[in-house]
Amino acid sequence: MRMTLEPLPETPLTRHRRLREQGSLDRADLDAILDAGFVCHLGVVVEGRSLVVPTVYGRDERQLYLHGSVASRSLAGGTPVCVTVTHVDGLVLARSVFEHGVNYRSAMIHGEARKVTDPEEKLEGLRRLTEHAAPGQWSYARLPNRRELAATTLLALSLEEASVKIRTGAPDDGDGPDAQLGLWAGTLPLTSAWGTPVPDPLLSPGMPVPGHIARRGGTRHG
Ligand SMILES: Cc1cc2nc3c(=O)[nH]c(=O)nc-3n(C[C@H](O)[C@H](O)[C@H](O)COP(=O)(O)OP(=O)(O)OC[C@H]3O[C@@H](n4cnc5c(N)ncnc54)[C@H](O)[C@@H]3O)c2cc1C
Repeated sequence: MRMTLEPLPETPLTRHRRLREQGSLDRADLDAILDAGFVCHLGVVVEGRSLVVPTVYGRDERQLYLHGSVASRSLAGGTPVCVTVTHVDGLVLARSVFEHGVNYRSAMIHGEARKVTDPEEKLEGLRRLTEHAAPGQWSYARLPNRRELAATTLLALSLEEASVKIRTGAPDDGDGPDAQLGLWAGTLPLTSAWGTPVPDPLLSPGMPVPGHIARRGGTRHG
């Protein structure tokens, strides 16, 4: 999914201060990070305390969608939030403990989340959220009824004020004095993949797995 071509903005919030060389202003990197995952961490201040809530997301070209129970205090909307999406690609095992690190791709989105009240936009946001996590399910599963929609909050968060950081490659101490220590150093890649679908034991025996679910088994995630 393509977004606008402008680079990510450098605002007082998004400007990288540390490890700046890992920052990217390329919106294509933001797109790729968002499209590779479906779980984010929503950081929000609730009653004076910060809460960081893992939650599922979906998106369109301009905004991220988050959803949950109307009882959820973290989804009140109308307050500044910070959302992160993180993919861990491996451990960076250096010669010195100090230089150890992580290869990763991460995005951080700052903004004020808006509660979606328009029924059409709400349904479309929920569709995007469902399809982002489980492509094909919106047209396969029963859609939410009026009562379920009323019990669900949908938040929209603009993707305008966002930042990206990416680390790849080898440890940083291969050309320093620690290179003489004779220690092994390198990276330990980490990947995750979808497993084989497990049928609900209450299904009638022999019911086939729908193609859109079966096809994902064994494919890479993240
Ligand atoms: C899996 C993982 C593990 C990490 N482990 C460590 C660790 O152990 N120690 C450590 O110091 N750092 C670690 N980092 C890097 C860390 O996320 C920060 O980028 C770094 O610590 C700088 O933090 P800061 O508060 O100085 O950020 P600043 O540079 O002050 O942040 C300014 C702005 O830059 C952007 N920004 C900062 N970090 C990120 C990010 N990761 N992704 C997207 N945008 C970002 C935000 O918009 C933020 O508001 C890790 C990152 C990941 C993804």
